[in-house]
Amino acid sequence: MRAAPRVTPRRKERREMSFAAHLRQKIRQDGAMDIASFMALCIAHYYKSRDPLGRQGDFTTAPEISQMFGEMIGIWCADLWHRAGAPPVLHLVECGPGRGTLMADLLRGTKHVTGFHEALHIHLVEISPPLRALQKHAVVHERVTWHENFETTPETGALIVIGNEFLDALPMRQYQRTAEGWMECCIGLDPQTGALVRGVMPCVMPCVMPVSRAAGIGDVIEISPAREKFVAGVRARLTRQRGGALFIDYGYNGPAVGDTLQAVRNHDYVCVLETAGEADLTSHVDFAPFGGFLTTQGAFLQALGIALRAERLGLQRDMQRLCAPDQMGGLFKVCGFCSDGLRPAGFS
Ligand code: SAH
Repeated sequence: MRAAPRVTPRRKERREMSFAAHLRQKIRQDGAMDIASFMALCIAHYYKSRDPLGRQGDFTTAPEISQMFGEMIGIWCADLWHRAGAPPVLHLVECGPGRGTLMADLLRGTKHVTGFHEALHIHLVEISPPLRALQKHAVVHERVTWHENFETTPETGALIVIGNEFLDALPMRQYQRTAEGWMECCIGLDPQTGALVRGVMPCVMPCVMPVSRAAGIGDVIEISPAREKFVAGVRARLTRQRGGALFIDYGYNGPAVGDTLQAVRNHDYVCVLETAGEADLTSHVDFAPFGGFLTTQGAFLQALGIALRAERLGLQRDMQRLCAPDQMGGLFKVCGFCSDGLRPAGFS
């Protein structure tokens, strides 16, 4: 008979350590961390441990509001595939597919497009095991593959990449102008209480942007090397693989001054530090560094014919939520890219 494995108190303690305690320990050991490192750790923990979407969850996204969202993206994809000459193999990559709702609606909406489903190879880039499980149920197609990141998706064949509320989950760094010059914003520990606190640390500014010259004392600017690297990677692929990409997110055509780091839990804004790793942590996306086509979600969906679809389905209220400038239609932007010689629908 084998002896039961011995669990030392230390190991047990470590196993039971909460995410917040783990974060504090890491800062105690390594020193204050920049905002991007903090975001990356919090976001990974958050998504890997739950399904955050829907009314019961923390936040609701466009595909969860209405089937018409995924249907319109489907029209955009099928149209681009046609414009590219209807290649027999099309790798359709969705980054951060959530519950798989957008892809399910896209597939249903394009069922009657001759040859489209036969050409499709679907790739879902997803880090969350609970969400992958939901995607397995929702996305019904013969060829579905999951990936940890975009890099492992096929590098030959036609390619379309889509992502709704994916870029905002990639980390960004913050810099603040202080009386002593520009500093990098960071997360440290209060020496008295040991709680997480926001602060600044000396840094080398990565670049001098015009906006940084206009900034006053106390102003914050945000730069996201992770988003820029990801989009540059997609664009590089589109020089070798015919196709396009579409990213939808709340954001602005910057550069701009302002701290947009926010945490949302149970459909409400909450304290970024108190809820570290247990709330949806995002920031507004600055689309300016990416180039490409840019429009508002409202204008994009209207250009693709959402009004006709809404009328047929009797879903005018959903359309309002998705398209009205004072609802999602204005704050959310659609950013598109194409291989040379192609033009994407939906951008006037
Ligand atoms: N697109 C979905 C879900 C948006 S939430 C919708 O609109 O409903 C963000 C999604 O991105 C989740 O599926 C989350 O698990 C995933 N995600 C977050 N960070 C990621 C990363 N670094 N790599 C891959 N997926 C990520």
